[in-house]
Amino acid sequence: MTNNYTYFVANWKMFGLNSSLKIIKKVISYLKKSKNKKNKVIFCVPYTLLNSFSKKVKSSNVSLGAQNCHHLNDYGAYTGSVNSKMIKDAGAKYVIIGHSENRFNGDDDNIINKKILSSLKNNLKIIFCIGETLIQKRKKITNKILTKQIFTGLKNVNNVNNIIIAYEPVWSIGTGIIPSQKELLNNILLIKKILKKKYSKKYSKLKILYGGSVNPKNIKNLNKSYSINGYLVGGASQLPNKFIDIIKKSYM
Ligand code: PEP
Repeated sequence: MTNNYTYFVANWKMFGLNSSLKIIKKVISYLKKSKNKKNKVIFCVPYTLLNSFSKKVKSSNVSLGAQNCHHLNDYGAYTGSVNSKMIKDAGAKYVIIGHSENRFNGDDDNIINKKILSSLKNNLKIIFCIGETLIQKRKKITNKILTKQIFTGLKNVNNVNNIIIAYEPVWSIGTGIIPSQKELLNNILLIKKILKKKYSKKYSKLKILYGGSVNPKNIKNLNKSYSINGYLVGGASQLPNKFIDIIKKSYM
């Protein structure tokens, strides 16, 4: 991974049909025209779209990712589940793991660790989501929570080249509320400190993205924050003009 790219990761959540390819096409043509070539744009789409979309965006300037995977590497009796081997085969290069919406559905730090290890084994790049809930923030245990998420989630992960951290305060996802610049700075610094403790010098290779209610109105402010390598964008990434605006405004 080159060091100075800005990442724009679209998390489509439970959104998208085959016809939604037009959203990605619009972004592709914007990126082609744009003078700024230092963007990495990744669309994390539902499993159902991975295979057909991957053929259609093959030689373009965007990549595809999945939004989750099963923690086991082998086939098994897990009705409705998809593992990282299947995702890779369907054309994904990336996978989001540890998203709070899946943590709420039962993914704990140990399961997340298994998902990460299995995805790395299948040569996927990981967008690893961490972040505190509102209650945890109020209890002032953000440090403890982020430390546990990082140390357990990344247990036995020694090569950090294919790991991207997405700091997503849970209270910010889908709420329209973003952290103050000071709070964001403090938490990014905190994450770096934890990563340094775990990885010593290697920690500086890790990219850190911010996610939570990113939109064209707040992107400029967010962009002033120290040392963010990009954004994980949920709702606003389903609308091509908004998503393009976010990319544009982040370097204006
Ligand atoms: C997300 O789902 O990762 C996310 C950041 O959502 P939103 O941008 O809608 O808050």
